[in-house]
Amino acid sequence: MHQKLPQELDPFRYAQNGLELEGELQLLSMNRLAKYLHNDEGVVDITMKFDVDETGTPYMRGQFQVTLSLNCERCTQAMDLELKVDSLLAIVKSEIKVEGLAEQYEPWVIDTNDLVILSSVVEDELILALPLVPRHDHDCLPEEVWSAGDDLNVEEEKPASPFAVLSALKVKN
Ligand SMILES: [Zn+2]
Repeated sequence: MHQKLPQELDPFRYAQNGLELEGELQLLSMNRLAKYLHNDEGVVDITMKFDVDETGTPYMRGQFQVTLSLNCERCTQAMDLELKVDSLLAIVKSEIKVEGLAEQYEPWVIDTNDLVILSSVVEDELILALPLVPRHDHDCLPEEVWSAGDDLNVEEEKPASPFAVLSALKVKN
């Protein structure tokens, strides 16, 4: 199963032939993703299954697994994020056909008859899966620094649980 991944491919032909790909891609090759990263070392584990569904729609079911090094927005230090992305993409020739797609699919629009670059679709899926505001799970700054204006404190000031309110009502009846 561990064949060398092609750099470029024709997704329509892969779907028609029910082909599968498995392998690793270097993060180094992903320039658009790189601007979100603390460093671009590492590899993405990739599984891609191409097929045509019962309605004739060519699709790709992909699983991409990677540990990214991002910048924490709170302390600005590096933080590791494990990502496991499952994608189900319908392969379509132009925007026009996107309208009629079954709901489970995201469109993978192929602009031309040229081959597509494999790493660019993987890169797109990883960028979509990035957190909007990457932050360490733990309190990565000393308390006096972030308690001043950080909205994370809201958690601790929650009102009494709804169950407490319920039992109070029961007593009244
Ligand atoms: Zn942090």
